[in-house]
Amino acid sequence: MTVYFKNNSYKYEVEAVMKLFCPLEGFDFVFDGDYDETGDSVLISVTDKLFVSAGLCGKEISAEAPLCDESERELALCRMLYTVMSELTGISPEWGCLTGIRPVKKVNALISEGCGRDEVFERLHEKYFISRRKSDLSYHTAVTQAPALESLDPKSYSLYVAIPFCPTRCSYCSFVSHSIRSKGAKQLIPQYVEMLCREISDLGEMLKGKNVFCDTVYIGGGTPTSLSAAEIEKIMKTIEKSIDISRIREYTVEAGRADTITEDKLIAVRDNGATRISINPQTMQDGVLKAIGRNHTAAQFEECFSLARRLGFDNINTDTIAGLPTDTFEGFKDTIDRLIAMDPESITVHTLTVKRSAELFKSAESFRDGYLTDDSVSRMVNYAYDALTRNDFMPYYLYRQKNTVGNLENVGYAKKGKEGLYNVYIMEEAQNILACGASGSTKLIDRETGKITRYFNYKYPYEYISRYEKMMGYKPELEKFLSGM
Ligand code: SF4
Repeated sequence: MTVYFKNNSYKYEVEAVMKLFCPLEGFDFVFDGDYDETGDSVLISVTDKLFVSAGLCGKEISAEAPLCDESERELALCRMLYTVMSELTGISPEWGCLTGIRPVKKVNALISEGCGRDEVFERLHEKYFISRRKSDLSYHTAVTQAPALESLDPKSYSLYVAIPFCPTRCSYCSFVSHSIRSKGAKQLIPQYVEMLCREISDLGEMLKGKNVFCDTVYIGGGTPTSLSAAEIEKIMKTIEKSIDISRIREYTVEAGRADTITEDKLIAVRDNGATRISINPQTMQDGVLKAIGRNHTAAQFEECFSLARRLGFDNINTDTIAGLPTDTFEGFKDTIDRLIAMDPESITVHTLTVKRSAELFKSAESFRDGYLTDDSVSRMVNYAYDALTRNDFMPYYLYRQKNTVGNLENVGYAKKGKEGLYNVYIMEEAQNILACGASGSTKLIDRETGKITRYFNYKYPYEYISRYEKMMGYKPELEKFLSGM
């Protein structure tokens, strides 16, 4: 489909709104060229008025509005485009034309202006056409996460440590994680662990004498338990030796997949200071697990969960995904019901996101056919909200991603007092994050201006290992920033 722009170039937001209605469509963008209205096309025009026209399958609808101030034009045009596309397609996405990934940030801002639940909805609906259900979800999340945000010390940071290896690659995965089934990736692990420990201890050296302290630690992936117990221990011991973690309030290790978890690894995680782990079934349906390329069953997940309980873990998160290929509403409902019955401290409900780099996007035509029209995924996430909140799991962090089925959301639910602090801080961009490892992204927040500066480590383990010195080029700037805190 071609999108024409006349006297403007609001490509990014316009594309985001178009994706709400045509998620699998590719777009061509033409700036100030001749508008060809034959075939499917969209025109976004700014002259002495704002004008939007969209033609789809031989039907055309347009809208116009008076010219407004330049700072308001992009949103005004997006609202017009949303209305036109909604009428053309008959689809009314529940998040309206709010395309950002952090809706709760907007709600937190409204709450700080004194808005209550109804006023938040009125303001968000008026501006973005958001539904009552999604507004209430965001409001509920904001209220639950408030204590975590209020308890945040501006001198604190979270440490993120990345382990980009997995036992096999899930079909929907677009992350850089390497399957350790490949000989090359497996051989890289010892060098990777070595280099990661070097980066952690270099960071520890840099942090000496700085007026900052470590608040939370998160070892994520990939699947950190793809490593051996000895390798996990080596990394955790390096953290303990290099960084002052005496004031931490949370230490999470994403154990991840049941096909990697063993008693000796869990003991290594427990004995080296983790206070919270995540064991992720994604689904409790064996057929779906097979369809997405995960080499474990629901029963194996249950065994790992019981093992972790026996070993004393009292804060366990479990991740699920709504909208997995071959899953059904009944299957997903069964997954949520069984997880609630197992009584973890938190349950995270993601909605499937399929990026073009994922195997699933390339191969599963039938899945792609069902991507747009099926409302079962929306029913799944709504069921999760109803069932979880009925059982004392409250939404405490929420984010959205591009290319998510039904343009839906990811929500972390937790029992009171068991909210994952790191998740809140990273999603609300409330705390500095110092990241180590391949694909790690360090995020520094200027408290005065609110400006966020990001530094990226190399994505792939082999680059991370071979170009370590070059990658460390940003560390002097990081050191300067930390010295000024
Ligand atoms: S466990 Fe996660 S990171 Fe690893 S392959 Fe599956 S989706 Fe990707």
